[in-house]
Amino acid sequence: MAKKYVYSFGGGKADGNESMKNLLGGKGANLAEMAGHKDLKLPVPPGFTLTTDVCVYYYSNKRSYPKELKEQVNKALLSVEKLMERKFGDPSNPLLVSVRSGARKSMPGMMETVLNVGLTEKTIPGLIKQAGGNERFVYDAYRRLIMMYSDVVMEKAAGIEPKEDMGIRKQLERIMDESKHKRGSKADTDLTAEDLKDICKKFKIRIKEVLGKEFPDEPMQQLWGGIGAVFASWNGKRAISYRRIEGIPDEWGTAVNVQTMVFGNMGNDSATGVAFTRNPGNGDPHFYGEYLINAQGEDVVAGIRTPAPINTFSQSTHNKELVTLEKAMPKIYKELFAIQERLERHYHDMQDIEFTIEKGRLFMLQCRVGKRNGPAAVRMCMDMIKEKLIKKEEAVLRVTPSQLDELLHPIIDPKFEASNKPFAKGLPAGPGGASGQIVFTAADAVAWAKEGKKVILVREETNPEDVEGMRAAQAILTARGGMTSHAALVARGWGKCCIVGCSAIHVDLAGRKMNIDGKTLKEGDWITLNGTKGNAYEGQLPMMDATKENSMLMDFLKICGTIKKLGIRTNADTPEDASKARQFGAEGIGLFRTEHMFYGKGSDEPLFLLRKMIISNTLDERKKAIEGLFPYVKKDIKGTIAAMDGFPVVIRLLDPPLHEFVPREQEKLEQLAKELNINMEELTRRANNLHESNPMMGHRGVRLGVTYPEVSAMQIRAIFEASAELIKEGKKPYPEIMVPVVCDVKELEDHLVIAKQIYAEVLAKYGIKTIKHMFGTMIEIPRATLVADKIATVAQFFSFGTNDLTQMGFGFSRDDIGGFLPEYLKKGILPEDPFQSIDQEGIGELIKIGIERGRKGRKGLEVGICGEHGGDPRSVEFCHNVGMDYVSCSPFRVPIAKLAAAQAVLKNKKNKNIKKKK
Ligand code: ADP
Ligand code: MG
Ligand code: MG
Repeated sequence: MAKKYVYSFGGGKADGNESMKNLLGGKGANLAEMAGHKDLKLPVPPGFTLTTDVCVYYYSNKRSYPKELKEQVNKALLSVEKLMERKFGDPSNPLLVSVRSGARKSMPGMMETVLNVGLTEKTIPGLIKQAGGNERFVYDAYRRLIMMYSDVVMEKAAGIEPKEDMGIRKQLERIMDESKHKRGSKADTDLTAEDLKDICKKFKIRIKEVLGKEFPDEPMQQLWGGIGAVFASWNGKRAISYRRIEGIPDEWGTAVNVQTMVFGNMGNDSATGVAFTRNPGNGDPHFYGEYLINAQGEDVVAGIRTPAPINTFSQSTHNKELVTLEKAMPKIYKELFAIQERLERHYHDMQDIEFTIEKGRLFMLQCRVGKRNGPAAVRMCMDMIKEKLIKKEEAVLRVTPSQLDELLHPIIDPKFEASNKPFAKGLPAGPGGASGQIVFTAADAVAWAKEGKKVILVREETNPEDVEGMRAAQAILTARGGMTSHAALVARGWGKCCIVGCSAIHVDLAGRKMNIDGKTLKEGDWITLNGTKGNAYEGQLPMMDATKENSMLMDFLKICGTIKKLGIRTNADTPEDASKARQFGAEGIGLFRTEHMFYGKGSDEPLFLLRKMIISNTLDERKKAIEGLFPYVKKDIKGTIAAMDGFPVVIRLLDPPLHEFVPREQEKLEQLAKELNINMEELTRRANNLHESNPMMGHRGVRLGVTYPEVSAMQIRAIFEASAELIKEGKKPYPEIMVPVVCDVKELEDHLVIAKQIYAEVLAKYGIKTIKHMFGTMIEIPRATLVADKIATVAQFFSFGTNDLTQMGFGFSRDDIGGFLPEYLKKGILPEDPFQSIDQEGIGELIKIGIERGRKGRKGLEVGICGEHGGDPRSVEFCHNVGMDYVSCSPFRVPIAKLAAAQAVLKNKKNKNIKKKK
């Protein structure tokens, strides 16, 4: 049998269903589901889907089609004609169709759609008859077809790249504007049938002039032109850049949907709209949406007129004067409301739907799982668990790490926000706060951001060509468009701060400035947006973190906590960091760096003492300096262990090479010389002695302790004494002493002798029997992973220092990688920066070997990770899979690591189930 390339839907039946997204694309699969599923059978205009296989064929066969396609399309078209009792191209009773794109994953606005296909000079009279004599409507539909077709098929798909503002659509829009101007009218709806007829004529002439070809006034030619244009749009510039950003593979291809036209622009009993089964901006569990009376679908998405709210829950300061659909068409609203309820129950998730009302009849044109921002995602999950719509496992899988990240993002400090007046208000399309310098084009946004500037992209309205600029910007502000406009949709998908429909703003693109009620803001001026409220402020307002009051977040994290297996610890050097991380549910500290106390606030005194120690020449001198330093180290460690009461705290012994701490300023050097009673010459000589050619691979970590055992001894004593004191205070300290930069078990044996001796001394001094603790090592040198079995005979725990392990495993200096990494990524030599996400193939293999051999050397060896990777979701999944006990990351990444750890468990289960079924 010939391969099936075309799937029909409509009339209560469908060849496909929702599970066939790979073949039918998201739109096609859901149209089939809505039309044909026994629980739905919704009013979907009949049509058919050309599969993604056709697209794949098209690109691998020099843009041609499989030979069976034509016949299959004809057959499918015939059955639509039967259902509709109309004929494509028939002068007296014509069928019109739309040609719509639809990839596996939705790519809002990135690909093309052509409406009203099949309308020609010949079929116009027939459509007028169908429309009850409404000529105006028919010529409006015709001018839309001509506009869309010339833009999408004749220009874009043909690969023509017009100069800025000279695209055919822009040129035709200007023709239309002139006509409106002549009439002295503003809205498209003021144009009469005669005006539109005239406009269509002018359009055709202009098209011939500009593109050198006639607009094809033949139905079949239009249909195949449309189909080809959709396939071509898969490889359009903006679709490609969107795929890059979203990580959608080029091989997928798009499907094409051909569907009977229904008209929302047949008069005041017609309308079109977009809605969500819940509010995608904040998760509010109410039907939410916008609609336009007497308009075709594209008008809502393009943000041409301000749409009206469908109900009171959808009202904003912006549109509250407009009549709701609930009021304007109560019966239809009720029907729509019931349908959206059914859809949500059917899909168990929030749905984004497109509908059109033709002369008082409701049609469903699209549904899909709706994009939402982070706060909304978490809220919906928690609500849906309560409503028993989903299980907690499903909830955990549904929130992406980056959505969770949004909840952890800064907001404008309310204190400052309260004392500032917004210069403009708009719709809150993307949450959180952001400050930046104004830019007016996407290209500028990209260029400025490259220079390290923070920018806010201000546009009249955004279009798909702007995506890269939107990406580069901190936030987006548009003058036009509603909550379902392009800018809002894209920003929401990314969780980016965004305000749309800020109608007080008048953008003067050429002058690189904007006017707001007599005030002017220029390119480069700072503004601050509150995307949660829709307020825009002048200047740069201070930000703060919003996590404290969010109980929903805490509940969600608790659920993650019940599923995950990995422990989640934090990297913290201060009691403040430690308690912040505790709030997020960190279960210990995976890395406390002793050296942090020599940097930043309050470090003067300890740093001076450390320097004294470093510059000391004799054991005696050094011991004196160390004695002075001891109380500082002990106090610091004690505070942090106390904050983690009962949870383990991994304390790393001094790690960096000593010369890092030698002062550079003359004044500090003189002070040091005086204190040590030596002259400047001698001081310089000693400092120079510390100089190394390759300090990162030099005299550091355990090597310091091997040459200066008294330095390690002091730190170990500080750890045990701090713990002993805490025990006396009734606390439960649990330090884990970690020796860094180890490559051989003998280094550890050397240190274990010191540790044992001091442990005994401290127990005796405080008169206690034991201090719960562990002695272990960081695994960060490739050799250590290979001899891990031996190392584990001494080490009671391993903590993978994946920053250094990556550095030394690749032989890439992390500090110098900027010189070549971009080229490596561009050429695809590396898939991504290995310092961001663990290189599983190479460095991951070292980790696996290290764990395997380590556990051979010691049963039950505790294994964790403390590099930056501990907060990267994919790396967390890897850590779970290789059997680590915990990951450790910065306090702000703790929630993300927790979610990733829970998802790793669930994904693993899923994979196992799939394997079992096979
Ligand atoms: P996108 O994927 O960019 O949203 P769509 O294929 O959904 O593109 O089409 C764009 C607009 O055209 C939508 O608003 C949709 O409602 C409208 N539209 C598409 N097909 C039809 C049709 N058969 N009848 C009426 N309106 C349609
Ligand atoms: Mg759509
Ligand atoms: Mg290191």
